[in-house]
Amino acid sequence: MTVRFDDRVAIVTGAGAGLGKQHALLLASRGAKVVVNDPGGAVDGKGGANAVADEVVAEIRAAGGEAVANYNSVADAKSAQGIIDTAMNTWGRLDALVNNAGILRDKAFQNMSLEDFEFCSQVHYMGTVYCTKAAWPIMRERRYGRIVVTTSGSGTIGNFGQSNYGAAKMAVNGLINVLRLEGSRYNILCNAISPSARTRMTEDLLPEAMRVYMKPELVSPAVAWMASENCNVTGQIVAAAAGGYSVVQYFQSEGVQFDPDQPVTLEMFDEAFPKISDMTGAAPLGRNRTRLEERLRALGRLG
Ligand code: NAD
Repeated sequence: MTVRFDDRVAIVTGAGAGLGKQHALLLASRGAKVVVNDPGGAVDGKGGANAVADEVVAEIRAAGGEAVANYNSVADAKSAQGIIDTAMNTWGRLDALVNNAGILRDKAFQNMSLEDFEFCSQVHYMGTVYCTKAAWPIMRERRYGRIVVTTSGSGTIGNFGQSNYGAAKMAVNGLINVLRLEGSRYNILCNAISPSARTRMTEDLLPEAMRVYMKPELVSPAVAWMASENCNVTGQIVAAAAGGYSVVQYFQSEGVQFDPDQPVTLEMFDEAFPKISDMTGAAPLGRNRTRLEERLRALGRLG
């Protein structure tokens, strides 16, 4: 089915470069009116330049699309509200919010300052919260909304030197796990992209042979789909890299079941741990609640 955004308004944060720029270009090419948000700082979030967002807006307009620039930071509640206001003041509506803005301040945990933890969290996690919180009442009122957050393998599987970044990137997954429950009755669908692409952020990190295929524009179809009316899932994490797409889920082992009416000793746990951690027969998290009920029933509990 064709995916279009005619008459729809989308915001992409951090849309002046890298992945965000490609998301904005794709959305605009499919008819969306796009707020191109970007304060234009360095990869560590320092400095700023309006030209970064302006150039993307110019590119969209030159191709016949509609876009407006916004230079606010997502990392402050008032400033993030200003990004949402730009969409409302310009076009009077908001259909999709792509939380993409991000920075890096890598260091081993031992050397990582609390300020670098706080700032990373402020941009990736609270920035996503601030923008989503400002968009939420508008989407709820109209009973339509698409929210995309940007997570990372650095959180789901870890990456040396990125304790601040990885933790903040996992926080947005927790956010959408709850927002999917609260948003679905208002047709607000909240999903995550877990990208991997060559941008200034990953310049020195990708293996040379793979770099050529890790095009940021190959991540954008997944993001634009999750931002579209065609999207019919919520609470999903979609991984995208070099034209490969997959879904990331949490799995839980079958584990062991002791009698809950009897004490469980440390030794019992110690002996059982190989079975507790055996992932044979693991099920996606969530389905195990049914399993727990079945197991307690098998022990004659729960009636
Ligand atoms: P990038 O540095 O090219 O782009 C990030 C953009 O965000 C920049 O244009 C920057 O100016 C903007 N930005 C930074 N702080 C901001 C703020 N406070 N408010 C608004 N905008 C701000 O990096 P990228 O690789 O395109 O990253 C985009 C997103 O994807 C980030 O959230 C990043 O963490 C995530 N990510 C990227 C990869 C990858 O492989 N490139 C992997 C996992 C996750």
